[in-house]
Amino acid sequence: MSNKQTNSDVILIGAGVMSATLGTLLKELVPDWKITVLEKLAAAGEESSNEWNNAGTGHSALCELNYTVEKSDGTVDISKAIKINEQFQLSRQFWSYLVESKLIRNPQDFIMPLPHMSYVRGEANVKFLKNRYEAMSRSPLFQGMEFSDDPAKLAEWIPLMMKNRKHDEPIAATKIDSGTDVNFGALTRMLFEHLKSKNVEINYKHSVNSLKRTSDGLWNLKVKNLATGSVEQHTAKFVFIGAGGGSLHLLQKSGIPEGRHIGGFPVSGLFMVCTNPQVVEQHHAKVYGKASVGAPPMSVPHLDTRYIDNKKSLLFGPFAGFSPKFLKTGSMFDLVTSVKPDNLITMLAAGAKNMALTKYLIQQLMLSKEQRMEELRDFIPDARSEDWDLVVAGQRVQVIKDTVEGGKGTLQFGTEVVSAADGSIAALLGASPGASTAVHVMLEVIKKCFPQQLKEWEPKIKEMIPSYGVSLVENPGLFQELLESTAQTLGLNETASSQKAGEQKKVQRTVS
Ligand SMILES: Cc1cc2nc3c(=O)[nH]c(=O)nc-3n(C[C@H](O)[C@H](O)[C@H](O)COP(=O)(O)OP(=O)(O)OC[C@H]3O[C@@H](n4cnc5c(N)ncnc54)[C@H](O)[C@@H]3O)c2cc1C
Repeated sequence: MSNKQTNSDVILIGAGVMSATLGTLLKELVPDWKITVLEKLAAAGEESSNEWNNAGTGHSALCELNYTVEKSDGTVDISKAIKINEQFQLSRQFWSYLVESKLIRNPQDFIMPLPHMSYVRGEANVKFLKNRYEAMSRSPLFQGMEFSDDPAKLAEWIPLMMKNRKHDEPIAATKIDSGTDVNFGALTRMLFEHLKSKNVEINYKHSVNSLKRTSDGLWNLKVKNLATGSVEQHTAKFVFIGAGGGSLHLLQKSGIPEGRHIGGFPVSGLFMVCTNPQVVEQHHAKVYGKASVGAPPMSVPHLDTRYIDNKKSLLFGPFAGFSPKFLKTGSMFDLVTSVKPDNLITMLAAGAKNMALTKYLIQQLMLSKEQRMEELRDFIPDARSEDWDLVVAGQRVQVIKDTVEGGKGTLQFGTEVVSAADGSIAALLGASPGASTAVHVMLEVIKKCFPQQLKEWEPKIKEMIPSYGVSLVENPGLFQELLESTAQTLGLNETASSQKAGEQKKVQRTVS
């Protein structure tokens, strides 16, 4: 049994989209740093980043109603939508840089243009959507968005959803053509292939069991080689814990004070999938609805066209549920073992506060297929059970922490970078908006953990990501220029021009 040892500048734990993004950024910034990846599964992008484990929405706030807030006077606050859109533009720019530099190829294998739509029923919701549309149309980031409450127009946009629909209540939708469907699994695999070609050492079937600070300021990781059963020692100056749902346990094992008083609440997900070409061909959009009362924001129902392995399918969901596992391949003891003396009160407070949510998730878990079909029929009145199958999606571990606004044990729905004061280790917790904003989040990691190098790295960061550090909403010219150039490089060209002209065009691929 070999007791392998490595010494690296950087260790990335986990081979998901976040480690892939950070590794790729760092390889461009400091090509001669030695980077080692440790992944417990047999391949990259097998957990949340896998194409079947997430919804593949390029979240840019074009359709997600939970990113805009209705204020008491009926006006709509779109500041969060602006933030998320700007963050997605960073991802588009970085992916375009990688394609232009020929570091990755064939963008159509991971990103496709697809209209993004929001859809509501009922008078109050229609009014909200109209106000939201008006507020968003005033921002340069959402130009080209259209609103309609005319059933004939809606039948043009979403024929499958309008067919045999009873017109017994008002209905409305917005549509914008510059949305995307992103195969984050394919992207992750492409990035790891690229990293491998740059001599990054990628160790699959390697599970990180513990990590400790050494007396000389390095991090020493005890790693189980699952193929041989041997225990290895890997040492690095900087460690990124990009272990998805596994990050909280590893952060706790690191013992850094910044990781104290934090807990995790797992939410599981299910999708319904249709591959019947006759049904699939009748729908071409991501259509996001409104979450039902009491539902967490990540369970907003949506009906999406997906492009996976060059095949089109339809996906509906997610149906949230409860499972104590933190990873899809995790253990039933994950939740229990994440409770430590330092987060016990935080976790108990969260438990007491979120009884209704837990009840909702358990109820969701108990739904029969026919009950789920009934929810789908809100979107597709004619949906037939035989056309739809259930698939289990990834686990999301929501962060629980004590906050000034929410008090002890507040459930967070965003992502959180937790790093040591000396910048030698960082962990990514939480899962929303998720993979779409990987570039923004990994730039945050770089900013927090490499403050000394940042000044020297900035010109290269700006070469890769021209809007880095610039507000796009305040620079509409730059926004438009980058939207068009990234659309060109990523093969989303028709989309950008139709958004500019505010026209309705059938989206077609221009790059193959
Ligand atoms: C149902 C659902 C829908 C979603 N929809 C979207 C969407 O539409 N758009 C979007 O942008 N985002 C979406 N997300 C979020 C997105 O999938 C995640 O934010 C993203 O994939 C997280 O990437 P990651 O690299 O952090 O984690 P992961 O992809 O989970 O990767 C973590 C890796 O770490 C490995 N690992 C764990 N523990 C260890 C250990 N001890 N040692 C070694 N390796 C370890 C795991 O095996 C895994 O491969 C969705 C998520 C879910 C669950």
